[in-house]
Parts: sequence; C-alpha cells; structure tokens
Amino acid sequence: MDRQQEYVLRSIEERDIRFIRLWFTDVLGVLKSVAIAPAELEGAFAEGIGFDGSSIEGLTRVYEADMLAKPDPATFQVLPWRGEENGVARMFCDILTPAGEPARSDPRGVLRRAMDKAAEKGFTFYTHPEIEFYLFQNSSPEDGLVPIDRGGYFDHVARGTAHDFRRDAITTLESMGISVEFSHHEAGPGQNEIDLRYADALSTADNIQTFRTVIKEVALQQDVLATFMPKPLVDAPGSGMHTHLSLFEGERNAFYDPAGQYQLSDTGRAFIAGLLRHAAEITAVCNQHVNSYKRLWGGGEAPSYVCWGHNNRSALVRVPMYKPDKGGSARVEYRALDSAANPYLAFAVLLNAGLKGIEEGYELPEGADDDVWAMSRAERKALGIRSLPNSLREAVEIMETSELVAETLGEDTFEFFLRNKRTEWEEYRAQVTAYELQRFIPAL
Ligand code: GLN
Ligand code: MG
Ligand code: MG
Ligand code: MG
Repeated sequence: MDRQQEYVLRSIEERDIRFIRLWFTDVLGVLKSVAIAPAELEGAFAEGIGFDGSSIEGLTRVYEADMLAKPDPATFQVLPWRGEENGVARMFCDILTPAGEPARSDPRGVLRRAMDKAAEKGFTFYTHPEIEFYLFQNSSPEDGLVPIDRGGYFDHVARGTAHDFRRDAITTLESMGISVEFSHHEAGPGQNEIDLRYADALSTADNIQTFRTVIKEVALQQDVLATFMPKPLVDAPGSGMHTHLSLFEGERNAFYDPAGQYQLSDTGRAFIAGLLRHAAEITAVCNQHVNSYKRLWGGGEAPSYVCWGHNNRSALVRVPMYKPDKGGSARVEYRALDSAANPYLAFAVLLNAGLKGIEEGYELPEGADDDVWAMSRAERKALGIRSLPNSLREAVEIMETSELVAETLGEDTFEFFLRNKRTEWEEYRAQVTAYELQRFIPAL
C-alpha cells in the first residue's frame, strides 16, 4: 500500500467514516456511485471492486460486463452534507477490465490517456471552468419555470436567495478542497455563475462532477430547483461552461511570450489554430444535447461562429487580457462548452485539437476584432469565418467523419456516443411541440 492509501485508511478511522462512496462517470457524463464499507477498502485499492458494467451507459458490451472500480486515493474527501457522525466519504475511481487493463470506455481514462500523450511532449494541461446554471422555484418543469429572482449580470439582489445559495455552495465546495475564484449573478433571471480555480484538467473534471452534485444538494436544502440544462428559457441566455485552457512545460506557461501579439507564444497560437480547425468535429462532445444548440444559436453571448479574438465576446476562442507581469496566467478561453457536457470527454477532445495544431504547425488565421454576430453572411464569408453546427444532427454528422475524435475517445466510446446521439436526435425530431400546436392550430 502506498502512502496516500495509508493516509485514506487512517483518515477513515479518525473521522468515523462508515461509508465510502466510489464515484465514476458514464459516457454521457452522469455521475455513478457505489458505497462500500471501510473494511472493503484495502481490497478495493489492491484489485478494485467488481460491478456489472453492462447497466452503465456506454461502459461495456454485454458479453464483457464485469468491470472493476479502483479508487484514486488522491481524490479522498468527506461529504460535508452527510454530517460528522457516521460520516460518508468519496473517491473517484478508474475503471478497469477484469484483466486489470484500463477500460476503454471510462471517460476518466479517456482524459488520462490524452493527458499522458501531452505529457510525452512535455506538457501539463490546465483548465479553469466558469460554470453557469439556473435556479428556479421548486415546482414541476411542466408547470412553467419560475426563476428565483429577476436579477441580471453582476446584480446585487437585496436579501436574495441567490446570495445564500452561492455562499452555502461555495462553503461546501471549499470544505471539499475545491477552490472557487469568482461567483456572481449571471445575465438571466435566476442565473448564476461560479468559477473554479484552475487545476490540472483531470482534477478539474473531477471537481466539475463534484460541483454538480453539490449544487443539487444545496438546491434540495434550500428548496429550489437547480439546473445545468443549456437553454431552459426561450427569452434568456443559456448556461455555458466557458473554459480557460493552458499548457505548462514544468513551471513555465507555454502560452506566454512577452514579445508575442497579446503576449501569446507560437505554441499558444498553434493551439488556438487547432481548436478552430477542429471546432466543428468536437462540437457534439462539447454540446451533447438537442437543447445545446438552442443556446449556441440563441444569442446571449454564446458563440455561433468559428473565430478567435482578443477580448471579443462574440468569438469562439477569446484571449483574455491579463496583467503583463502575470505571464503564468496566459491562457485561451473556449466559449462553446456548455454546462451539460461530460467534462472528461470535452477536455480530452479540446486538448487533442490544440495539440494537433502544435504538432502540425497550423497557421493561426487573422483574429476577429468586431462583433461577428453583427456581420452579414457575406462579410463573414469574406473573412473565412465558418459556423458551428446548427443542431445535434449536424454536429453528429461532422463528428462521424472525425479521425481526431475517434482516436481521442477510442473506438468503443466513439461508436456508443454516436449511436446514443443519433437516437436522441430521432426522438426529439419526432416530437410535436407546444410551439407547433400554437402556430398551426387553428390556422391549419
Ligand atoms: N451565458 C453565456 C453563454 O451561454 C455567457 C455569458 C457570459 O459569461 N458572458 O455562453
Ligand atoms: Mg465569467
Ligand atoms: Mg458567464
Ligand atoms: Mg467567460
């Protein structure tokens, strides 16, 4: 047993932990959990805990259903909302086949693989997500969604539920070792944003999964409804998960060059070029639901066109301003991601798109300084600015042809994901919506 594993076992005794939840994520980004007794833990560290993978979305084919969940001791945390007595703790797991090989369809494994590949080139990948979500009054969605307040961007809502909500959520996150950098009211009524401090992408993806659980727990405590649905309201902005990306070579930020345009290094430029060239292919992964496209094409500062800019909020990739003496914080912001994406898969495709740009030495096109939403179609065409996919169907059709995404996800996950998304599209396409009834009856 290594020192981290020993530390976990000691903490469990000292803190009177009675249940250990083993967490992992299915291909669609849903958190899964199995509880074990402390006595099982040594075995779990050594060999993993067996479970039937065939019931987990996308994990296995039925004839190779037995899988092992092996806890990662670095992710040990006590769940604060379960109280001190008879405590509950959790660890994220890596999923292995019965032969002890990494399961090819474990999203955490997909991201690990991408990060290992980056490490071979000397890079560590860091991410910093800005997570947006809505708070509604607690009632059934069919009865209509009622936001908890009428606040807007950065509004200070007097005695607002949102303050208490953010305070409780952030205290809980901090007590679980997840640092929060900013939080504020977002532009939509009842919409909030919480930004997590940057960390290596695997830790960030774990943190996002924890974050979603914490938000749902706090919502239950405060009797409100929290949702990460990308576009819950027709007339208000959607919920994005803009993510700031950077590569480090040891201690040095590889995107920083004081002499470069916007202090961006050639590595940083090639990384952006990779993101842009592969943006359409990776959209199904970054924006995985039929509803995601209502956000991307619904205004409210969500990107619809493939271009980059310096501090340009209409661009897909933005190079934010930072203090000149803070070379370490050089980074690029990818703005398409939404709050319902599987963070492991999304970070893996973003990393590989950027790395491809570096490997192949892609040339970065001219940046867009103007509002690309305000341009005419002809103006965008003249500048070579393409669109992001319009719908899940279009995104899936483009993803099908992508070598980059197939390689990143691995064959099993790639095929499962495409199958699942084609079905989602077909189900959605078959619906007769409230809009159609209003529009066509009694007119037709
Ligand atoms: N809600 C917007 C989006 O969906 C972002 C708004 C902002 O943070 N500027 O991308
Ligand atoms: Mg923000
Ligand atoms: Mg925001
Ligand atoms: Mg942002």
